[in-house]
Amino acid sequence: MPPASSALPVAVIGGGITGLTAAWHLREQGVPVVVFEASAGAGGVISSLRQDGWLHEAGPNSLLEGSASVAGFVDALGLGPRRLYAADAAKNRYVVRDGRLVAVPASPLGFLKTRLFSWSAKFGLLGEPFRARSPADCEESVSDFVVRRLGREFLDYAVNPFVGGVYAGDPNRLSVRYAFPKLHALEQQHGSLLRGAFKQRNPTGGPRGRIFSFPDGLAELPLTLARSLGDTLRTATRVQTVRRTATGWEVVAGADGAMRTDAFSAVVCALPADALAELHFEHVPGAEKLAELHAIEHPPVVSVFTGYRRENVAHPLDGFGLLMPEVEHRRVLGTLFSSTLFPGRAPAGHVALTTFIGGTRWPTLTQLDDTGLRHLVGEELGSLLGVRGEPVYCDVRRWPRAIPQYTLGYGRFKKLFAKVEAAAPGLHFGGNARDGISLANCIESGRRLAQAVTGRPAA
Ligand SMILES: Cc1cc2nc3c(=O)[nH]c(=O)nc-3n(C[C@H](O)[C@H](O)[C@H](O)COP(=O)(O)OP(=O)(O)OC[C@H]3O[C@@H](n4cnc5c(N)ncnc54)[C@H](O)[C@@H]3O)c2cc1C
Repeated sequence: MPPASSALPVAVIGGGITGLTAAWHLREQGVPVVVFEASAGAGGVISSLRQDGWLHEAGPNSLLEGSASVAGFVDALGLGPRRLYAADAAKNRYVVRDGRLVAVPASPLGFLKTRLFSWSAKFGLLGEPFRARSPADCEESVSDFVVRRLGREFLDYAVNPFVGGVYAGDPNRLSVRYAFPKLHALEQQHGSLLRGAFKQRNPTGGPRGRIFSFPDGLAELPLTLARSLGDTLRTATRVQTVRRTATGWEVVAGADGAMRTDAFSAVVCALPADALAELHFEHVPGAEKLAELHAIEHPPVVSVFTGYRRENVAHPLDGFGLLMPEVEHRRVLGTLFSSTLFPGRAPAGHVALTTFIGGTRWPTLTQLDDTGLRHLVGEELGSLLGVRGEPVYCDVRRWPRAIPQYTLGYGRFKKLFAKVEAAAPGLHFGGNARDGISLANCIESGRRLAQAVTGRPAA
């Protein structure tokens, strides 16, 4: 743990949201930092693009204000007044059943009336509080957990589409303990999801769990962080080697063969699993085992942003978007109604839709060329939303390794991080392979990392 006055800075490797957040907290505590980012700009997978009156997110689309630390962080950056909550018009969330969009019920009465679930599934739910909890040490797939507690239909028409939308993943293979730790804890602590959810409901009815972005897109967040870091953020600088020395750490980094070695008091790695697996560590016991992180599955995803004239889309687009259950056998994971969600995403008289394709369900579809993808999206949106004709704007963004899958047995990777850290004090690991995949998880990860370095609570 370096004292705040330590002459040597802390190296933060990776200028995505995790690394930038960690660096910001460290500086707030008076600890000097250097952030190394391999690409030309900061923000990692966050990428908001403005063109011809359209504003689209090539990567993540929104952030969940699920914890006080996310809200406080955005405020502390001075971005509070720019926070743009999801519009009221986006309250509906649709799931496709039998080829048609069905709004997910938002009230007990809506639940009774919905055609998303059969009567037998609805009545079956009444038994949930009386079902036994699983033993604390048992690791279950998301599917097994949901079928056991809620029944098959809830897996097929609620959880499966949700998992497709969040992880682009397969609930048969994801571990409920690692992929949805809050759900797992709900059962362990309360013996029932319904009882636990009821006890944990927000008594103030306040803004818990609201979704937000910014007028210029999510990129406002990393851009603000990058500005505050000034020239302590070194972009286009890839770290090759992390070396433990008798007195601290050295980092070898650079570009185009022009490498430079600098000394640091501690090293924070905020990298995707495969980048960390490729980093060269010297004099760090057990670090060679980090190569095992290559085994973490990251299915490919394509994000297709399409813009249409309003009159060419029959559906009112009165919601957040639609999610697709696997049992529907369609070729999309889901579609966000981007211009309903946040203002300023499409020129006047137009609407914007963002469609996700691939994931563990249909990875091969991501190999289609741009024309094929555009055609596929046109066909699917045509039958689901009554979209007619060609889009007036289209952007295809490919993520060959999109999101780490917290599959059964993921605990071995978590243990590996902890083991290497324990063997080399001053070395810290965070990011979406360790601390959770959402942006909110990554912001929390950055805060945790800063705290781990200084030993003092970060704001
Ligand atoms: C298509 C897509 C949609 C998503 N949608 C959402 C969403 O709507 N909401 C949500 O909450 N989450 C979403 N996520 C998840 C979330 O965006 C990510 O988990 C999160 O942004 C990861 O941040 P990070 O900083 O940990 O990693 P990254 O963003 O991957 O950043 C890591 C950085 O490290 C750099 N780097 C790599 N190797 C080196 C090296 N050797 N030296 C120096 N730098 C290096 C990389 O260039 C990169 O900038 C989405 C993810 C994807 C891919």
